[in-house]
Amino acid sequence: MRKNFAEKIRAWFSKIGYTCDACGIEVFDYPKARLCEACESSLYKNDGKRCGKCGRATVAEGLCLSCKKKPPVFTKGMSPFVYENLTAILINRFKNGERHLAYFFAERMAELLQRQNLQKENALIVAVPLKEERELERGYNQAEELARIVGERLNVAFDKETLVKTRDTGAQKKLSGKERQENVKGAYHVRKRKAVDGKTVVLIDDIMTTGATGSECARVLKNAGAKEVIFLTAVSLKEIK
Ligand SMILES: [Zn+2]
Ligand SMILES: [Zn+2]
Repeated sequence: MRKNFAEKIRAWFSKIGYTCDACGIEVFDYPKARLCEACESSLYKNDGKRCGKCGRATVAEGLCLSCKKKPPVFTKGMSPFVYENLTAILINRFKNGERHLAYFFAERMAELLQRQNLQKENALIVAVPLKEERELERGYNQAEELARIVGERLNVAFDKETLVKTRDTGAQKKLSGKERQENVKGAYHVRKRKAVDGKTVVLIDDIMTTGATGSECARVLKNAGAKEVIFLTAVSLKEIK
């Protein structure tokens, strides 16, 4: 009887999410803290040396190698985490159906954006449109999930109608940086130019790998009149030397 009751309580708590998003042990000040202390301390935070343009973790001060070669079109990139170890595991779990992880990532993204002194009335949040067939099957676009929560947390408008995808780009995993640039060229379109005209657009995605997708979306947004485009992602790949 007693055991049964304890089990019920545990099930109830886990249902409403009083457990670490990463390992599942109890977290008493959830959702203020979404991870337990041990998981929190093993996150690879992107708070060391960073590229001044795309925001990825770098080996030395200054621009990363890829920005030196060809700077992306977005004004500036930023992400709270580096794609490595636990942050890589969590973002992959988020991509593979654990939708609730959007809160963990989006709240950290919102904190980072908050420090930018954004003029909220002149800002607009957009998400990188759906990328793969697989995402359709899953039922949600992770970039959109993140964008919606960042918008809610910071009280900035989120528009999911304006930036659209006009053709399928397939899986980009195996493509090189240059191939990705070619692959995404002309794949995005701004439907309501008026919505972005003169605005600071915050473009949101889950991962920045080469930055090609963000750069191409930024290009069409700027062509439509966006004043600047901040590319905000949950994680980014660190500079490879
Ligand atoms: Zn944990
Ligand atoms: Zn860079």
